[in-house]
Amino acid sequence: MNLIIGSHVSYKTDTSLLGSVEEALSYKANTFMFYTGAPQNTNRSSINLNKVQEAKKLMLDNNIDINNVIVHAPYIVNLANPNNFDFSVSFLKQEVKRCYDLGINKLVLHPGSAVNVSVEEAINNIIKGLNLILDNNYNVKILLETMAGKGNEIGRSFEQLNSIIKEVKHQDKIGVCLDTCHINDAGYDISNFDLILDKFDQIIGLDKLMCIHLNDSKNDINSHKDRHENIGFGTLGFDNLIKIIYNKKVENIPKILETPYIDYENNKRVFPPYLFEIKMIREKKFNPNLITDIINYYK
Ligand code: FE
Ligand code: FE
Ligand code: ZN
Repeated sequence: MNLIIGSHVSYKTDTSLLGSVEEALSYKANTFMFYTGAPQNTNRSSINLNKVQEAKKLMLDNNIDINNVIVHAPYIVNLANPNNFDFSVSFLKQEVKRCYDLGINKLVLHPGSAVNVSVEEAINNIIKGLNLILDNNYNVKILLETMAGKGNEIGRSFEQLNSIIKEVKHQDKIGVCLDTCHINDAGYDISNFDLILDKFDQIIGLDKLMCIHLNDSKNDINSHKDRHENIGFGTLGFDNLIKIIYNKKVENIPKILETPYIDYENNKRVFPPYLFEIKMIREKKFNPNLITDIINYYK
């Protein structure tokens, strides 16, 4: 089966997309996801188009299809909050343009959080914002992420996501990114993934599922916590995650790891787990010594 797998990677201004591709290749990935700057702020610098050209060549040489590459919008952007609505809309308009300049057609977005407003108002603000942002000539889709339901997060159920999606004018530009940790924490039993896909199909439509965030969870089902765990080391477990990854219905959907870095000597250094997690996934065999193997490889 055709497995499209990668992880979150860094993006630095000087190396631009080329540095991100090189990092993805170091994990033996065939796709990747990145933030166009720091995830927690909205400072963004202009794109080095020469590096983007080099990156595209390197992707071609290594069978990475840019159509499977994902950008993640910074998580402080909140379309639900009326107080910085205008800023969020203008930032996301620019972010869509940046994706277009990079040649990337999928932008993952946390729908928003109902701060100082009712859930209904929050949803209406998100719809209004999306319709303003998507009114453009760029071939870039916004993928709303399924959220854990921490605090006032919007997007905690397929029904809630669909109440937004169905009001979006440009239906060809809206999709969903399903995060396995988040849906577990939101109350979905991932041990029967076929049932989840059936539900998703009935409520939203499977054609809208365009990315999977592949994470184990540190917490139990319905905990509304959102703390990711390394593959096979959390409450979801290796076998359940393998069943999700190799489910035929999601074969052509990019799968992105956002699992935590491995701490070495009390955070003196941290190491990415992705090379070893991808290896486990390709081999369909859990590695109980994952953490020590990672430390021995990078230290
Ligand atoms: Fe996310
Ligand atoms: Fe995620
Ligand atoms: Zn998360």
